[in-house]
Amino acid sequence: MRALIDRLYTERTLSKEDFCSLLSRCTPEDSEYLFKLARGVSGKYFGNRIYVRGLIEFTNYCRNDCYYCGIRRGNRSAERYRLTKEEILSCCESGYGLGFRTFVLQGGEDPFFTDEDIVELVRTIKKSYPDCAVTLSIGEKSEEAYRKFFQAGADRYLLRHETANAQHYGRLHPPGQNLQNRMECLWTLKEIGYQVGTGFMVGSPFQTVENLAEDLLFIRQLEPQMVGIGPYIPHHDTPFADQPAGSMELTLLLIGILRLMLPNALIPATTALGTIHPNGREKGILAGANVVMPNLSPVKVRKKYELYDNKICTGEEAAECRFCLQSRMESIGYRIVVDRGDFRPVKKFENTVRSFYDV
Ligand code: SAH
Repeated sequence: MRALIDRLYTERTLSKEDFCSLLSRCTPEDSEYLFKLARGVSGKYFGNRIYVRGLIEFTNYCRNDCYYCGIRRGNRSAERYRLTKEEILSCCESGYGLGFRTFVLQGGEDPFFTDEDIVELVRTIKKSYPDCAVTLSIGEKSEEAYRKFFQAGADRYLLRHETANAQHYGRLHPPGQNLQNRMECLWTLKEIGYQVGTGFMVGSPFQTVENLAEDLLFIRQLEPQMVGIGPYIPHHDTPFADQPAGSMELTLLLIGILRLMLPNALIPATTALGTIHPNGREKGILAGANVVMPNLSPVKVRKKYELYDNKICTGEEAAECRFCLQSRMESIGYRIVVDRGDFRPVKKFENTVRSFYDV
């Protein structure tokens, strides 16, 4: 197993079979070995710096019906909300004061917000906070829409592929939703010039080790700048309510593998990881992640953006979340920085590596 891990470290990829054996046969000691290598890699590029993104969950209306998701259209019990433009801007205002330099606008696919509305929103935020990055995470849109958002100033786009296997995708989504379109969106976003994030849930219903290997190989092909993964966690009002949650250990192993594959990528320790274990996010950082995404949404709507059960940080104010995460990161020897935290190609690190270690 060590030889396989060493090969992943030097070659940054493995064959599908080798990924499968790594994922199924890694002992806890092997994982520790891999995490150590992964920490070395993130340390080389980022030192002990952790980037933060302020997450603004601005609508939980959704036209899609993903079987795993608590805000799916079919969930009649979900209490729906939308933030107004003013509310969103006020989230940015408090976020800016707390040191956030990236705002992530995430939501269900809510047709109430037209492409023009999103353009307006992005423009306003970029005008008010020219030193900040705006990330969109609003699902599958037309190429034209993606271009308009980019022209309006959106810097990044998060769109998890969810699973790279079309059959598996078909079991997680209703017939109208397909993997091909989602993947085409990702390639389009990359071509337009966004910093692109993709990812998947670990332990989603019916997922096999081969599926995970396929996810890794798809990511190898796409070469995204960001990869977000987290365990699948059931939501009581979905068709998958009785499916077991994904495991923390496997999620951590995959974070470590992704760090070895994409040394300078932005990899968050996600809220879902923090939900299945009280120290999940710290463990994520120690497995190779380098980003955290505290919630900036107004407290009154936080419980309503319930993708899965028992989601953490739904009762706190933005400032509490920010400082809680700061002390969590400090407890493991890392520090949150006030920085846009853009993706930088490997070459651009060469001149700056020394200054990272100076600080
Ligand atoms: N509508 C946007 C944002 C989706 S929510 C989009 O389509 O991209 C963000 C992510 O939450 C999803 O991509 C999915 O991977 C994750 N998610 C949804 N339900 C989940 C669950 N039950 N457990 C864990 N993660 C979940």
